[in-house]
Amino acid sequence: MEPDPDIQRLTQGLNRAGVKTKCPACGAKESVPAERPVLLPAAGTGEGFSALAVVCKNCGHIGLHAAGVLGRLSDSQEA
Ligand SMILES: [Zn+2]
Repeated sequence: MEPDPDIQRLTQGLNRAGVKTKCPACGAKESVPAERPVLLPAAGTGEGFSALAVVCKNCGHIGLHAAGVLGRLSDSQEA
């Protein structure tokens, strides 16, 4: 599967924010971004917003980062 360009961009924002890959649940050091953004539903609206899920490869803990914030980080610091 081709890498999702959105994921590449969001991962870039994650790195620029200095997010640590250490899992807050089990302490394992290897967490990886999911292959696709997730859409979080907003209650009662039929709409939602997108987020980057970071998944611990040891215990499966999922951390979520708002795609809008990561996208801005990626854009604002583009060389
Ligand atoms: Zn973990």
